Amino acid sequence: MDEFALIERYFRRPDQPPGDGVVLGPGDDAALLLPPAGDELVMTLDTSLGGHHFPDDLPAADVGHRCLAVNLSDLYAMGARPLWFLLSVTLPQADEAWLAGFAQGLFDLADRAGIALVGGDVTRGPLSVSIQATGAVTPGRALRRSGARAGQRLAIGGVPGQGGLGLRHWQAGERASVSARHLARPAFPLDLGAALVGRAGAAIDVSDGLLQDLGHILKASGGLGAELDLATLPVNEELAALDEADRYPLQLTGGDDYCLLFTWPDARPLPPGTSDIGMITEKGPILLRYPDGRTEPARPGGWRHF
Ligand code: ADP
Ligand code: MG
Repeated sequence: MDEFALIERYFRRPDQPPGDGVVLGPGDDAALLLPPAGDELVMTLDTSLGGHHFPDDLPAADVGHRCLAVNLSDLYAMGARPLWFLLSVTLPQADEAWLAGFAQGLFDLADRAGIALVGGDVTRGPLSVSIQATGAVTPGRALRRSGARAGQRLAIGGVPGQGGLGLRHWQAGERASVSARHLARPAFPLDLGAALVGRAGAAIDVSDGLLQDLGHILKASGGLGAELDLATLPVNEELAALDEADRYPLQLTGGDDYCLLFTWPDARPLPPGTSDIGMITEKGPILLRYPDGRTEPARPGGWRHF
């Protein structure tokens, strides 16, 4: 099957409505798009390499879902409404069963999120998927990392530690656990980002570990600190079953969580499904509050020894 037949079969969807603002989708030299009047465009790009960003043996449908999910996570963390995406797939060979699965996982999520594929590229080589996604936000309303202030509550949507535990399960051949399913198909509340617009202080999607991504908020907001209450971190049943010495490193530094970490400036209730996990303080370092009440500074690596 040549490149054009492959694009036609798996990535063009003539039976689907084209998507908001799509004047011309896949098939010409480039796409034509009409931005929502007066909005700011929000753009992000993530590349996922097989064997590096996802397991080599991840089923194709999961690869399709996951590669789009990591981009949507960034759009939502900015408070953006998803609009369009471009897809670049590099494949060792034109494996039709793999492509069919990939397209199915990809479009399942795309349709749920209301984002339209408007073009892309297909090349031969080691398995790699790049997606560039575009969303829109009302001018001035995007959720930035720099919006945290001392005294704000720290809150999270999603379960930190799930991605790291999922990877451990996957590598041990345990593919059906809640955490392994999250690694394969990162799930996050699709409407949370929009619910935070105009209300949250700062926001970031947690993809590189909670402490590191919290650090990005604190730095971008002018060198603040935070107190993190370990007992309040949301868990799934598998994380809950681990002892603390095993669980904390996963919760604090595991990757691939795709949680939404944000600060909350006032006493209004948090959005449904999110948890209060601490507060923003004047000065660093980040303090970890243990269930027995003692606090310890979160030195990189240092807490591992507890
Ligand atoms: P060109 O050589 O002009 O770059 P391509 O052969 O790469 O053209 O692509 C032809 C058309 O197919 C373009 O409109 C492009 O956006 C679309 N396309 C290519 N790959 C994909 C893909 N993976 N998903 C969706 N559209 C694609
Ligand atoms: Mg091309």
